[in-house]
Amino acid sequence: MKEKFPKGAAWMNGQFIDISEAKISVLDWGFLRSDATYDVVHVWNKRFFRLDHHIDRFYASTKKLRMPCKIKRNELKSILAGCVKKAGFENSYVEMIQTRGMSPTFDRDPRKSVPRFIAFAIPFGWILEPKKINKGMDLAISKIKRISPDSVDPRVKNYHWLDLVNGMYEAYDRGHYTAVLIDENSNVLEGPGFNIFSVSSNKLITPDKGVLEGVTRQTAIDLAMEINIPVTKKSISTEEFKNSEEAFATSTAGGIIPITKIDGKVVGNGKVGEITQTIIELYWEKHNHPDWTEDINDLL
Ligand code: PLP
Repeated sequence: MKEKFPKGAAWMNGQFIDISEAKISVLDWGFLRSDATYDVVHVWNKRFFRLDHHIDRFYASTKKLRMPCKIKRNELKSILAGCVKKAGFENSYVEMIQTRGMSPTFDRDPRKSVPRFIAFAIPFGWILEPKKINKGMDLAISKIKRISPDSVDPRVKNYHWLDLVNGMYEAYDRGHYTAVLIDENSNVLEGPGFNIFSVSSNKLITPDKGVLEGVTRQTAIDLAMEINIPVTKKSISTEEFKNSEEAFATSTAGGIIPITKIDGKVVGNGKVGEITQTIIELYWEKHNHPDWTEDINDLL
């Protein structure tokens, strides 16, 4: 069967190419060992949202994995903008990846590998389609534990997704939309591609550890501060999460996403909460603001 590709463009080996041509060797450690890190930033109306936050996280991740990205910030920005420009997108999902690569002699020592950098732009993707936002997500609390942060640091954005994908299947089997995974003490952590927040008594809480420090999570915190809503980072037990007055997820793939049902229990009155709604509106307002965004044409 011929593979079908979305519209898109990539940058590899010093060139911009069509997404259908962006291929790596099966011997790359990124493929064989999930030995890679990546970041995803979005473009909305031709403007990157909080691009420096994503680039800072990407540089920190490549450094922690001992393969620091050698591409300088300005060049990196122009590569990412170039992918969006080549694909002709107004709204886009833009990914930068660094894999361990492979050693010319296929040595087992990771230090002998030559890291590989790839970037690509594809159409913007949503965890929950805008037409379903008002209904919110029906979330399962998975029985699956997130990979221990003592084994794989979740702050390094990674492709170790077998726990998250198994969680999605478990949620589908139980009739839910998606799932949030738990830690060894059954505290809720994060889901496939999103962080979570619980809202009660006009306060926000989000897990302090064991999760990716999402750029949208930070954005929700920054927006809450703007409207004088206190935010605490701490563990959230399953019961506390289920008893939230409001709840939402955060992700580059769609922003602030209401959660209206948790493990079969309706959250609040089952509608998108008031604080959640305010943060959603502020989030999208910031997408035209020069302090929060950069025009792709200024970066080329
Ligand atoms: N948690 C995980 C495991 C993720 O993969 C992601 C994004 O892909 C997030 C949280 C949300 O992070 P961000 O807001 O930076 O997109």
